[in-house]
Formats: sequence, C-alpha cells, structure tokens
Amino acid sequence: MTVVHNLGFPRIGARRELKRALESYWKGDIDETALCEVGRDLRRRHWEIQRDAGLDLVPVGDFSFYDQMLDTTAMVGAVPARYGFSGGSVDFATYFAMARGSDALPAMEMTKWFDTNYHYIVPEFDAAMAFELRSTKVIEHAKEALALGILAKPVLIGPITYLWLGKERSHNGRAFSRLDLLERLLPVYQETLKRLRDLGVRWVQLDEPALVMDLPKNWMSGLQRAYEALSQSGLDILLATYFESVEDRVSALESLPVSGIHLDLVRAPSQLSAFLSRHPKGRALSLGVVDGRNIWKTDLSKALSVLEEARSKVDDVWIAPSCSLLHSPVDLQLETKLDPELKSWMAFSVQKLHELSVLKQGLEHGRDAIAGALRDSDDVQSRRATSERIHSADVKKRLDALTKADAARHSKFAKRQSKQRDELRLPPFPTTTIGSFPQTTAIRDARAKYKKGELDAAGYEQTIRGEIEHAVRQQERLGLDVLVHGEAERNDMVEYFGEQLSGFAFTQNGWVQSYGSRYVKPPIIFGDVKRSAPMTVSWIQYAQSLTNKPLKGMLTGPVTILQWSFVRDDQPRSQTATQIALAIRDEVVDLERAGIRIIQIDEPAFREGLPLKRKDWDEYIKWAAGAFRIASSGVTDSTQIHTHMCYAEFNDIFDVLALLDADVITIESSRSGMELLDAFRKFSYPNEIGPGVYDIHSPRVPSTDEMHSLLEKAAGFLAADQLWVNPDCGLKTRRWEEVTPALRNMVDAAKRMRNKLPAS
Ligand code: GLN
Ligand code: ZN
Repeated sequence: MTVVHNLGFPRIGARRELKRALESYWKGDIDETALCEVGRDLRRRHWEIQRDAGLDLVPVGDFSFYDQMLDTTAMVGAVPARYGFSGGSVDFATYFAMARGSDALPAMEMTKWFDTNYHYIVPEFDAAMAFELRSTKVIEHAKEALALGILAKPVLIGPITYLWLGKERSHNGRAFSRLDLLERLLPVYQETLKRLRDLGVRWVQLDEPALVMDLPKNWMSGLQRAYEALSQSGLDILLATYFESVEDRVSALESLPVSGIHLDLVRAPSQLSAFLSRHPKGRALSLGVVDGRNIWKTDLSKALSVLEEARSKVDDVWIAPSCSLLHSPVDLQLETKLDPELKSWMAFSVQKLHELSVLKQGLEHGRDAIAGALRDSDDVQSRRATSERIHSADVKKRLDALTKADAARHSKFAKRQSKQRDELRLPPFPTTTIGSFPQTTAIRDARAKYKKGELDAAGYEQTIRGEIEHAVRQQERLGLDVLVHGEAERNDMVEYFGEQLSGFAFTQNGWVQSYGSRYVKPPIIFGDVKRSAPMTVSWIQYAQSLTNKPLKGMLTGPVTILQWSFVRDDQPRSQTATQIALAIRDEVVDLERAGIRIIQIDEPAFREGLPLKRKDWDEYIKWAAGAFRIASSGVTDSTQIHTHMCYAEFNDIFDVLALLDADVITIESSRSGMELLDAFRKFSYPNEIGPGVYDIHSPRVPSTDEMHSLLEKAAGFLAADQLWVNPDCGLKTRRWEEVTPALRNMVDAAKRMRNKLPAS
C-alpha cells in the first residue's frame, strides 16, 4: 500500500478569508464566535479539498489563527509572565497579546522560520518554567475532522525544534540551557498524544526541521530521549524533516523509536540513498517529491523514478510535498489574468495535491496508468527547456562575456574615497535617509486609480512629481546633506523593479503568509531577466533637477529581488541572481550618466539568504556578493555606491560586508545602542558606515540628545570620518508629522558632532 499525504495546507484561504476575519476581529467589528466560525469553515473546506484530491491522511492542527509556533507555546503553557496569564486555557486576549502586543505590552519577538519568508513567534524560556497543557487546539481540531469523516493526521511542532527555536531569558543573571527544560516539557506532549489516541487517531506528525541545522551533540541525545518518551503513547509517529538534508543524521534517526521519517527530496535529493540502504523494516519512508515552496509543476516522470527506486528497496513508501504547503499560494484556478502558457507551467497548493495523487496511481499501477499525465508533464518540461520566452540569447551572451573585472570597482576604496570627497564636498558626519518617505493616502489613492485606469499616465506622473518635490523641499528645509526622491512611485521595492524587467510575472491571488494577517504576493521569475529601458532614471533626474544638493539614486539589489520572489528552478539561483545583477548594473550606469553621483543598492534580504548549514555558506556568499558587485561596479571611482541592510545581526558575516565593497553601508543599530559597532571596529571595517540613530519602527520622535549620544558612542568605535548619520531604515510606514521633527533632531545631532571636531 502506498500512502499519499500532506504535511500542512495554507491556512489563509484562497481569498484571504482569514486575514479579513482576523482584522475585523481586532477592530472589534466581529466577535470571537464569528472569528471561530470562519476558522471552522476554512478548516473544513481545506480538509475536504485534500480528501477529494485522494489523500490518505490529511494534516490537522496545521490551522492557526496566527502561527504554529505560538500555538505550541499556548499548548505547553509557556506564556511569559508579563502577559498576566493566570491558568486555565489560553484565551484569545492572551494569545493575541503575545502575537501582536496589547495597549500595555509589546508583542513577543518574531523571526524568520528557517530560510523562508514566514515569521514565527519566538518562545521565551526561563529556568524556572513549568509546562502544563493550556491549549487543546490540536485535539479539538482532530475531533472536528474525525466527525467529518476525515482521515486525520494531527501535526505538532516537535519538542526539539520547539526548544531549539526559542530563546533563554537569564534568571538573576544565571544562564541555563533551554534543552534542560526538555524533561519538563515532554509530559505535556505525552498528554496531548494520549488524548489524540483516545479519539481514535493512529498517526501523528511531529515536525522536527531543526534536525537539518547544525545541532550540537547534547541536542541529539535529547532527541533520542524525547522520542523514547513519546513513543510510549502508542501512536504511530511520523517524524518530519524538511528544508535541507538530514543525511548526516541517518544513524541517529534510524535508532529512534518512530514509525516513519519524512525527507525533503526537493531541497536535498541526494540524501535518499543514505536512507534507502539502511531503512529499518516496517518503518514508513515519506518522500517529499513535490516542491512545497515554489510554484512550478512537478516533473512527474522524474519524481516517479525516485519513488520507484525507493519502492524497490523499502516496502512502506509514502508520497508527500517536500514541506508544508503553507509556503505555496492556494489555488492557481483563481488566476484569470496570468498568461495561459505560464499558467500551464505552474501548480499552487490545490494543484500540488493532485500531482501527489497522480504519483500514487503511477507508483501503484504503473506508468501506463498515468500515461496522459506523464506526457503532459514531459511536455511542460520540454517547453520550459526550450521556450524563447525563457531563454534569451542576448542574456546568455552577456553572462558568457562576464569577466572578473566586471565584478570589481576600478580602484581600491581609499582611492575612490578621496575622489568622492573631492567630488561631493560633504561635511563630516554627512546626513541622509534610507530612501522612502511616508506613503501618504494621496500617493496610494493615485496609484490605485492609475492601475484601475481612472487616472491617466500624465495625471499619475504629475501626482508623483508633486510628492517628489515635496520630499525634496522638506529635506532641503531640514538641512540634510544627501537627498533622496522618496520612492513615492513604488508600491513595493521588489515588485516595482520586477514589473519593468522581462522574465517576471505577477499573480492576482498568489498570497502566502508572511506573519499573522500579513501576506505577501511574491513575483514569479520565470525566465531570463532583462532590462529593456531605464526604470528609475526619470524620477531621480527630476528630483535632482530641483536641488543643488546631491541626490541619491535608489535601487533594490539582485539578492533581495531573488530572495523575495518565486524563482525558476531550471537553473541555479546564482545564475538568476547574476542576470538580475546585470539589469541593475545597467540602471546604475544610466543613473551615473544622468548625473547622479551617489547610488544606493538596497540588500535587506542578503543575510536571510544564508544557507541553513554553515558548510554551504561560502558558496552562497561567493555568488551573492559577486552579484552585488556586478550590479555596483559599472561606475567610475568618483561615483559613490551605498548599500543598506536593515537588521543588526552581522556578527557572522563581517567578512561579507567587506566583500561587497560598497563605499557606504547603512545599517540598523539604534535599538541595539550601537553595541554592534564594536564588532565593526574589531573587524576593522574599512569603508564608511551609517549606523542608524533613529528607530523608525516606532512613532516616537527621538530627541537630539538621544541621537547625539548614540553618535558619540559610534565615534568611540569608529573613526569620525567613517561615519554617516541616518535613520535605521526607510520612512515609508511613518507619517510626516513624526518624520519631520525626528529628522530635524537628527540633523541637529550631526551638527553638534561637527562642532566638536578639531578645526582643520
Ligand atoms: N530604500 C528602501 C526604503 O527606504 C529600503 C527598504 C528596506 O530596507 N527594507 O524603503
Ligand atoms: Zn531597511
């Protein structure tokens, strides 16, 4: 018997029903009962879709009103004391206070789920923590599913991954390891499993993606202890790994008392052979052969070959997506405007379920039984391999002609720096911003009307020019040294560029959850990337025409564009990144030609592209930094290249920042109080830096004193002539009423610094 199953289904609803319900609930427009009703409807609909697609086991418990890690925190009662939770079941007020904060309390920390763009709520542990069953969500949902006749397989985050992804709050300065909490945590899991068994459930899926990371030895022995305890439940446990290989753990996994293992064969196909040769008899091997993180149709023949090979060595082969479909959009059927040919290459969650069930037929009844589907699949593969819409001879020629020199500036930094100083004549501690200014309702209205055809191109252009002029005048009045145009014309920093490049497509409903009720609609890079005309030059040039101050051109970098899109899977990501880099390079050169002397290339997603395993870092860094340098190196020495990254976790990647060789890097640092600059000093970072002195995530207006003292601190770590003065990130989400006084104070803080410099 072959089992076909799924690891998780998107919870958001094909028409973003969950978002709408949550936001209405938060506003007070609907009550708890109504919100729960929407949840129940969505679950039932999603279970039925999966059952009707022929799945033998349907995941249950993957539904969440916010996040599956937060649900686990609720389940085990690990509610931080500050939320005043007093026992019983975790109620909505407590749950949403942890997720998004309340009037009195900030939310819990949020961070990226492995290398996806999904964010989870980070559990907080203290040494004295006690765990108790405080949410029976998975049990309730299992009951609901069973009552509907669904073959339910409850899904939980496994205890090792749950602890691994949390953080420790030291208690009276005493450090402890969260792994020490394992023994206290397990009884809650055991209780949950026992109750599931009492309902008549047979299989349960425990997700342990942490196993793909570089886990220390003691965590691996914790794994063994955990699963010995959990196997007492009498349930069959499927231990699910995904996002990378667990090949290096094959012997540890083999000796675990579980009934099945799931492997991600999309991300890590080569791990299969290690498991096939040693798979214990009687244990299920679930093979993730359908990509849960991308939107391309599966190559069915290739997937079937993998399954056939596995079947020849292992009795109990299961078929699954590589990981939960949480990371895929819901239903391709809703795309009515997508080019039909492109659409015929794609599969969203609903379509992926059908692929799974076709593969099952093929494996059980032979290839002839699915001959039609195989033929169609081969056809898609061969069209994608040859289509002129994907493969451009020009792009190939340019890629082939690339030399080392294209990925390096003409001169070393010191020489460039002195040329730039002669050219730009900026004061010490030059002030600037990160690019965007408030996206006012006027801007958003104009864009919406323009898209709907209610505003013509000339009208739209006039509105945007008005906004640019306003931004330039404000900056002049504030006395900033390097101005920006404000990005009023951009809805999104990736989409804006994607829409003007060939090789990109956009969906109407291809949403995936980023966090809570925030969903993103990533562009799809289906083919060779090419720029046919300047994308930003006219806006920037217009802004420069309004002022004598230098205006900074603003672009999104190749790694960020890659990282925030669905990327073609028929060539290495590095190659796609290089193509994007060439397009951005052309834009950089055009900006220079148009008289722009300072150009910023944003790379906020550079760090999140780091592979999950350290051994793979070097390779990534090499091509990713290479792509940035190709994008930035087409200009003369005297043109100043800036880059921006809006986070503060640089400790691991200092050498990378130097590899980028940007003349100036602006980073977030106000919240960490400049501490991270000490690491820049130790690393003796050579180029110029703008550590953010203004936390733009909050509506608060920081005072001159506050920013001045941050600058003094920064000057303690770095040379005064290395430093720039700027906010942490773009000001798009703020209002002018907040931005204007904050920037005025920032400029004053810079002036104070200048006044204290020894006269030269
Ligand atoms: N230039 C962009 C802005 O200011 C940068 C955004 C980002 O770093 N995420 O909005
Ligand atoms: Zn930023």
